[in-house]
Amino acid sequence: MSMSPFELHRPDDLLSAVRLLEKYGDDAVLHMGGTELLLLMKLGFAQPGHLIDGKRIADLKRLEVADDRLTIGAGVTHRRIERHRDIAHMMPALVSLEKAVANIRVRNAGTLGGNLCFAEPHSDPATLLAALDATVDLVGPQGGRTLPLREFLIGAFATALAPAEIMTRITVPLPRVGARVGYHRLALKERPTVAAAVVLDDRRCEVWIGALTAKPLPVPEAAAVLASSAGRDVTAAAEATRAAVLAVDAGEGDDYRAQLASVMVRRAVADAQPRLAL
Ligand SMILES: Cc1cc2nc3c(=O)[nH]c(=O)nc-3n(C[C@H](O)[C@H](O)[C@H](O)COP(=O)(O)OP(=O)(O)OC[C@H]3O[C@@H](n4cnc5c(N)ncnc54)[C@H](O)[C@@H]3O)c2cc1C
Repeated sequence: MSMSPFELHRPDDLLSAVRLLEKYGDDAVLHMGGTELLLLMKLGFAQPGHLIDGKRIADLKRLEVADDRLTIGAGVTHRRIERHRDIAHMMPALVSLEKAVANIRVRNAGTLGGNLCFAEPHSDPATLLAALDATVDLVGPQGGRTLPLREFLIGAFATALAPAEIMTRITVPLPRVGARVGYHRLALKERPTVAAAVVLDDRRCEVWIGALTAKPLPVPEAAAVLASSAGRDVTAAAEATRAAVLAVDAGEGDDYRAQLASVMVRRAVADAQPRLAL
């Protein structure tokens, strides 16, 4: 495995990075942790002539914790989230999710923004952040815009990113204090094979299945069962999940995959921990 030659640019600010991406067009790519990108380059699937390294851009590395939201720069690494004491206190589900991502080498370099922008279907954060209705901020040649993550993710390796656009931050609105949040995954190798995220609130519930489909799959039928039973009727929610996955899944091994998804929902409910105040 060897890489074709490229020129490395190391801008200090967002505007310069956007200008470089615009200038070199299809021949340029943003490089953050490089855990996905460099692999693609080594395998010859990507051969950009210009790598725009975003690691010097301070705006991408901000991380703010408030009572009602987490604001996480797209260039914040998995490891930094995993080790954040306030996030561990308020949202233990997110920290345990991050601790299970890949291995420590990948978590040290890989960023949350890189994970979401690469849009590999087997992503852990995408499922939980979709359930929490996170939004993403993007900056490009036409200015800035904010999108719900649910709309940003379009399919396998496909997002709403426009040419020369950079994801700058992820905003996670926190459910009310006391709401329970859970995430459970089955990983046969490094990445999740199937996963479920649940948000159990007395006002609204969310149930999302990850990794089975090209992008996280909402299961409103299961969420409605949990909402009307105050999170107690897990058997009916698991059955609703099984039926919903069967309805979208037409491939081989449907029954098995639907069964796994329903088990993940049961376990995510069992794992759910209360969201605490800051
Ligand atoms: C061995 C291995 C195991 C893994 N296991 C897991 C797992 O269990 N769970 C899981 O969820 N993930 C897993 N991953 C994926 C990992 O989380 C991602 O590789 C990592 O988060 C990507 O971030 P990065 O900064 O390295 O992205 P890079 O490799 O630098 O970039 C990836 C792509 O996203 C683009 N990009 C990056 N940041 C931005 C931005 N801010 N704006 C616009 N475009 C951007 C780049 O241009 C590139 O196209 C695994 C990866 C590996 C290699």
